[in-house]
Amino acid sequence: MQGSNDKSTLKEQYAGLVGNEQIIEKIDAFKANKSRENLLFLLEVIHNRMNDDGQFLIPVIPSQAALDLFTSEEVKAGDTVKSDANLHFRLNTLETADGKKWLVAFTSYKEYEKGEASSIITQDIRSYINIFNKDCGYEGIIINTWSTKFFFIKDFIKIMLNMDKPQNHISFVVGDITKLEVEAIVNAANSTLLGGGGVDGAIHKAAGPKLLLECMTLHGCKTGEAKITKGYNLKAKHIIHTVGPRYHGKTEDAMLLYACYINSLDLAKKNNIHSIAFPAISTGDYGYPAREAAVVALKAVIGWLNSNEEYGMEIVMCCYNEEMYNIFMGVSRGE
Ligand code: ADP
Repeated sequence: MQGSNDKSTLKEQYAGLVGNEQIIEKIDAFKANKSRENLLFLLEVIHNRMNDDGQFLIPVIPSQAALDLFTSEEVKAGDTVKSDANLHFRLNTLETADGKKWLVAFTSYKEYEKGEASSIITQDIRSYINIFNKDCGYEGIIINTWSTKFFFIKDFIKIMLNMDKPQNHISFVVGDITKLEVEAIVNAANSTLLGGGGVDGAIHKAAGPKLLLECMTLHGCKTGEAKITKGYNLKAKHIIHTVGPRYHGKTEDAMLLYACYINSLDLAKKNNIHSIAFPAISTGDYGYPAREAAVVALKAVIGWLNSNEEYGMEIVMCCYNEEMYNIFMGVSRGE
């Protein structure tokens, strides 16, 4: 726990807010001329500060434990107390005349000092703004309440959070799927889920023996379905195991292959995964002709992206060699 009665020390403590002057500057510019351009400049500066781990000063209502501390000799109200396990703070809110509730934030100690004394903590801009990801009942944030105030309304906050959201995207690479830096890689497994050759063997080898132990608890997987495990020694945090169909030249093959992609993507979404790499499922041992498989694969993943427009999924189609890459690229160009 940390407290101080010395205002200058307190100010020094907030020297970390440097960089927020730019936000003040842009708020002033917006107040002088409320153009769309000035608003966008301001949102961009806040967004950049958010990505630089910038901080706001947040007025808070301390818990009884914190108040007890304030009335002690050690710390007085208005000082800063960093929260620890026993000290809880509630964010201070403001209610405007129309009955709407707002959160409050200051961009500098000077801005905070213009108003009534309260307790404050520093909070990084990103996590503060992220409160609006949940339905919190606030209309938005009022930045610098006392003078150059700016109403950062919910709609702006949504724009800001969307800026950060991964976009739906599909790309093609040649390479070894076990080396890719994505949140999840897909394994073209067999129905036992207990390892095999091809990409399955490569994934088990790269992930390490713990993967097999986890797979043993899953009791297999039906063709067209998908199950998830940890990624262990892989860069990818998760592995999604799906079982492609053996090629028999029947329409059912295409339906099952299609299902592999859709079920893998649905499972990824369920686990809040936003980047995923697929091998060319069934095109090895299971004998699916590469071009036919690529048509089904792309129909499935593009269809999924279209029906999940808002989600933001980065899909990498990982082709083991140039030949497969050219086939996928050709199909994607409609050749
Ligand atoms: P299936 O039994 O579903 O046919 P395979 O593993 O035999 O699965 O082959 C699926 C595809 O994965 C093939 O195109 C194969 O060339 C490719 N492949 C094999 N090893 C890797 C790897 N390490 N990374 C990416 N693709 C791979």
